[in-house]
Amino acid sequence: MLVGVQLSRTSEHALAYIGKSKIPTCRIILSMPTPAPILSFEQARHKVEQHAARLRPRGKVLVKLLDSPGQILAEPVLADRDFPSFPRATRDGYAVRAADLAELPGTLKVIAEIKAGAEVDPSLKIESGQAAAIMTGAPAPPGCDAVVMVEYTSRDGDQITITKGLSAGDNIVPIASEAKRGDRLLSPGARLDHAAIAVAASVGRSRLLVYSKPRVTVLATGDELMDIDVPLALHQIRNSNTYSLAAQIQAAGGEPVLLPIAPDQPERLRELIAEGLEADLLLLTGGVSMGKYDLVEQVLTQLQAEFFFTGAQIQPGRPVVFGRIPAGLQESTSLGGHDFSPVATNAKEPEALAPEGHKYFFGLPGNPVSTMVTFELFARPMLEALAGMIPRKLIFLHAKLKSEIKTKPGLKRFLPATLSGEFEQAEVELTRWQGSGDIAATAKANCYIVIPPDRDRIAVGEWVPVLMR
Ligand code: AMP
Ligand code: MG
Repeated sequence: MLVGVQLSRTSEHALAYIGKSKIPTCRIILSMPTPAPILSFEQARHKVEQHAARLRPRGKVLVKLLDSPGQILAEPVLADRDFPSFPRATRDGYAVRAADLAELPGTLKVIAEIKAGAEVDPSLKIESGQAAAIMTGAPAPPGCDAVVMVEYTSRDGDQITITKGLSAGDNIVPIASEAKRGDRLLSPGARLDHAAIAVAASVGRSRLLVYSKPRVTVLATGDELMDIDVPLALHQIRNSNTYSLAAQIQAAGGEPVLLPIAPDQPERLRELIAEGLEADLLLLTGGVSMGKYDLVEQVLTQLQAEFFFTGAQIQPGRPVVFGRIPAGLQESTSLGGHDFSPVATNAKEPEALAPEGHKYFFGLPGNPVSTMVTFELFARPMLEALAGMIPRKLIFLHAKLKSEIKTKPGLKRFLPATLSGEFEQAEVELTRWQGSGDIAATAKANCYIVIPPDRDRIAVGEWVPVLMR
């Protein structure tokens, strides 16, 4: 019995191994479906974006405007009136007819004063030769077509002398020029940042319909892992990934659901994966490398997972896995034996498949920095799509390199770095670190430098792409 189990693990492990290498050594693999590929960074990202585009948020909830920052809008927000609803002065000064100032200096008679918030006298009209004192935000009266700034005027009783000419329209925002009543100002899928909230407030919306936050389960795997509040033996480490992921999930608009640590033991791992698949998205960490007890892909395969990639040509995070499991199968598939049948099917494109019938998962590498980076690069767009957000492309900003970089070509690297400088002078340099387990160095960094796979040296002063944290 024991021998049987051992054999089956070894064979299954061989399968996972083939997914990551080019050495098909045993006969059993001849009958197997094509293994999921290891993709370039860009291919892997596009694969995720393709699937994310087909996801829909689960529900909607009404929240107070003050509770809405960072949430995703689930309804259109319309202009409830014209914006502005009156011709609005944008300067303190005098409302005039521009044609009166064809010759300078010009002298006009002040016939009224209009302050912001005051109702305009309906009989007031600026005729040629006249002006009205006006404040920023006040309605420009009929007859005038421009506001001259107070700085270019001098006043003597009811006379003003103006030393600067102006054109019709200067310093007045016309009625409805920003938006007409009924115009859509915000669309469903917008992330509610402070500018969007200003719009909602300006149309009188004290409550907004937002999408429910997707529930994302986090399942850390590894026999060496311990909960963070129990004493440790020397060979054990604390499970930090669950907590860093929970923070990243929250920042991306999701609700983390934390599962107990899974040991490197297939039966318990399978149970916890099945539990994790009840949420909208499952994130596993650890157990996706090439080690003998890296069982995650094996157990997912038994659960009839379809893998879209089982690695990306990046560092950190090369063994990252992305796939999905048909809904319901996690309950019915029996464990044990060596049922290799439904593995990767790369031929199917997402267009052909109903997204509702599946649960997506990521197997993120266990090294803590790999976990953080692969979440940002790959898991985030899926989470944002489930949260209802309009998809956005990943964009890297650029900064000048402060210290030379020497590296090995072949992988696209996302290495912890410090962005410094001030105003237009952004400089960046790599943080000294001990590799993708070095959370202390990564916590001191504030971004990642993105190094293309074809570079082995980058000189001081070159512009380099930066992934912000
Ligand atoms: P693995 O991907 O399982 O091979 O793990 C790679 C490295 O990351 C090992 O040194 C693990 O001990 C470490 N590691 C795995 N999972 C976690 C976790 N949840 N928290 C902190 N370190 C982890
Ligand atoms: Mg492990």
